Amino acid sequence: MTNKLKYFIGNWKMFGDFASFKIIHKINQYIQNNKIQKKNRIVLCVPNILINFFIKKLKNKSIYIGAQNCHHQQDYGPFTGGVSARMLKKMGAEYIILGHSENRLEGETPKLIKKKIISAHNQKLNVIFCIGESNKEKRSGKTFSALSKQIKLSLDKKTNFNKIILAYEPIWSIGTNKIPNSNELEKIIRFIKNNIKKNFKTKKIPKVLYGGSVNSKNIKILSSIYEIDGFLIGGASQSVKKFIDIIKKYYK
Ligand code: PEP
Repeated sequence: MTNKLKYFIGNWKMFGDFASFKIIHKINQYIQNNKIQKKNRIVLCVPNILINFFIKKLKNKSIYIGAQNCHHQQDYGPFTGGVSARMLKKMGAEYIILGHSENRLEGETPKLIKKKIISAHNQKLNVIFCIGESNKEKRSGKTFSALSKQIKLSLDKKTNFNKIILAYEPIWSIGTNKIPNSNELEKIIRFIKNNIKKNFKTKKIPKVLYGGSVNSKNIKILSSIYEIDGFLIGGASQSVKKFIDIIKKYYK
């Protein structure tokens, strides 16, 4: 355990309504009362329709609110149902998840993700860029090449590495209660950092989070992996108890 800033980022996915403010409020209160915001950054990425409502209602904000995706175009335009990074920024979002495997599975390509990252960075949003291999890629020993490809196709030397956090999320571990073994995970996180350092000659090595079935039972194992800078938490972030238990157990 170190004093490095740790991220606990919730991905609510398609969940929540106005009444869910009580979850946000209780998490915010816990962070405040336990004075843990100095060494932790807590971000909740919620559905677009709730971003502004939550921000306006939150008093003494100790957590950050983010979005989960955006349209790749900056400006208003004929994109039915589309929401741009600029619109999200205006609503108060400070973070945005991009490249989530659930969106890649719906047809989002690495090229499109690259455009979205640029668009989000133009609005000074902090990007949480998700990468991860499928079960098939893992079984055929292609984890590293799959990750390299995803990085290479969506980032470049012009990327603002001060405003990007990577989230390693193996697809086979999302919502399955399976996590990679610690040695494997440590190697992969180190590989991602080295890959970015080598390919983009950046001075700033981005933080790399782990995401996929993080819960209060496996967080102790994950906390022993030095290279991990925090966690992207899906299902468990929809519950005050589950989310806070993860933070509590991390420090126990
Ligand atoms: C996610 O979807 O980003 C995620 C990590 O999900 P879960 O924690 O539910 O596996």
